[in-house]
Amino acid sequence: MEFKPARIIWHHSAFNSDEHQFDKINEWHRDRQFPLSGLGYFVGYHYVVEPDGSVRQARKETEIGAHDSGENSNSIGICLSGDFNLRYPSEAQTASAALLVKQIRERWKIPVTRVEPHRWDDQTDCPGTLLPDNWLINEFLKREGTVFTKFFQIVGEKFNLL
Ligand SMILES: [Zn+2]
Repeated sequence: MEFKPARIIWHHSAFNSDEHQFDKINEWHRDRQFPLSGLGYFVGYHYVVEPDGSVRQARKETEIGAHDSGENSNSIGICLSGDFNLRYPSEAQTASAALLVKQIRERWKIPVTRVEPHRWDDQTDCPGTLLPDNWLINEFLKREGTVFTKFFQIVGEKFNLL
């Protein structure tokens, strides 16, 4: 079933390693019997952003993922490889994730307020206790934002909206 993405939900892999994790995640999600994607993967997220900043796509953006129970019908899932209860994402990984958010937002006109951490929906600390809820929005705004979104960020921070 195809859908029109309305928001981005971001995750961490909760696995502490600097290696590429896409293949590992694919095995874990195969074992959990997640549905095979049109691109040939079991990975429940649409994208995985690796510690070195490389990005792998597992699902078409209009294909329903398996990354956030009850929330998959209108969201694109992005997973950053790593355990952010223990450490922060790398600079290259952060830059890639911010660019990916920019590209997805432009394609689907997703509002900046709809870039959401997994823990808003489920009983989980995903995407990691070291990262605040607005971490990815802020990184996107800092790195890829337009004059308008930068203004939004300043106002949002001032009035605690982000
Ligand atoms: Zn998650």
